Amino acid sequence: MVGAGPAGLAAAATASAAGRRVVLLDSGVVPGGQYWRHRRHFPPGGPRYRELAGALRRVEYRPEAGVWFAEAGFVLHVPGGTVEAERVVLATGAHDRVVPFPGWDLPGVLTAGGAQALLKGQGVVAGRRVVVAGTGPFLLPVATGLAEAGARVVGVFEAGNPFRMVRHLPVPAAKLREAAGYAVRLARHRIPYRTGHRVVAAHGGTEVTAVTVRGPGGATRRVDCDTLAVGHGFVPALELPVLLGCATRLDADTNLVVTVDHDQRTSVPDVHAAGEITGVGGADLALVEGTIAGAAAAGIGVPDGLVHRRARLRRFAAALHAVHPVPGSWVDALTDDTVICRCEEVRFEAVRAALTDLGATETRTVKALTRTGMGWCQGRMCGFAVACLTAREQGRPVRAADLEAFANRPIVAPVTLGELAAGMIE
Ligand SMILES: Cc1cc2nc3c(=O)[nH]c(=O)nc-3n(C[C@H](O)[C@H](O)[C@H](O)COP(=O)(O)OP(=O)(O)OC[C@H]3O[C@@H](n4cnc5c(N)ncnc54)[C@H](O)[C@@H]3O)c2cc1C
Repeated sequence: MVGAGPAGLAAAATASAAGRRVVLLDSGVVPGGQYWRHRRHFPPGGPRYRELAGALRRVEYRPEAGVWFAEAGFVLHVPGGTVEAERVVLATGAHDRVVPFPGWDLPGVLTAGGAQALLKGQGVVAGRRVVVAGTGPFLLPVATGLAEAGARVVGVFEAGNPFRMVRHLPVPAAKLREAAGYAVRLARHRIPYRTGHRVVAAHGGTEVTAVTVRGPGGATRRVDCDTLAVGHGFVPALELPVLLGCATRLDADTNLVVTVDHDQRTSVPDVHAAGEITGVGGADLALVEGTIAGAAAAGIGVPDGLVHRRARLRRFAAALHAVHPVPGSWVDALTDDTVICRCEEVRFEAVRAALTDLGATETRTVKALTRTGMGWCQGRMCGFAVACLTAREQGRPVRAADLEAFANRPIVAPVTLGELAAGMIE
């Protein structure tokens, strides 16, 4: 199993309970992934985490074991050696989806996930006066978490309209309770929640001091802050499935995701996938998918109840994607000098020139002409934006091929030359 988030933990617990020998590789220092991210010695409460963490007794769990390369058959390369396996369950999760805007590269502008990770993983509150913006239900735990840790959250600016969920009735009762809980917490901390509002620029000299927010009628206003936590959903971490040759597809939220069947099997025999990499859908869905993948990998039956629950949660996730699209109008806020690719410092004017003057019609060409996505992060940050800009210039929606150009990363994570040399000497 690769990944000790909700999906990987559930898969490992299920397969080990069925008597299989399970090795669980995770790049983190503690189990839990993003949802149960915590500081060492401060495990999250809750019976589900305790149960899954308890099951690690039956598992060969290896923290700080990020898989940086995988060979068919299967040989997984981790720092200090390799792990061989007959079957693999991939559950590598996701990272934040980034949309550029003027000033987004100023110190003090973080992704929503980054602010959350600092808080949960290090106990660090990202700022004193914080704006939370973007789209999706994830903004709610970020805003309430920061406020409860002592930050003054001056507003949550949600680009979508979550009240449109009424069109997708019935909403599961547990989700309604969760939403009501957040409403109470927002009210308790007097955090204004505005729908149909977007941050279109961040301002400041050496760090962010204010943001411009645009409302539904187009009116703008300036909001003072020392931190902006901004998130537009997540991008599944597809490096390993793509490396192993698993088929992918375009999901409703404009993400490339791994194609899986009823048993969470990918197109590659003996490779299963679960959690965010098969479609962004939250921790509950990741847990159900991980349980199914673990059962299928162990060769035991999957209970019908779980299959129905997965279907319900997937429908709910699809409704959330419909209610929280990334607003296409983010492109209108770009100026010539807005940075699109931070690693290679490529600005909007260069991307536009590649698409118009130089005639690029696909992202691979934009990449080659401008170096977007060729730096340290290999397109994890700018890939979505470049795909959107390319599709827009062509007058069509984003296609899987637009995103595929950024998904192929043969070296999954940075690896030292010493590590590579050690492998060659063996
Ligand atoms: C930054 C961030 C913060 C989030 N915070 C919350 C939150 O507070 N509340 C909430 O409801 N949802 C949160 N989410 C959404 C969250 O992703 C899901 O709801 C849930 O955690 C998904 O479970 P998962 O098992 O699919 O993936 P994850 O929980 O992301 O777990 C994936 C695991 O795989 C490991 N991994 C990745 N690549 C490799 C590799 N190559 N080798 C070895 N290990 C690897 C990672 O270290 C991680 O432990 C967050 C997402 C992100 C990106």
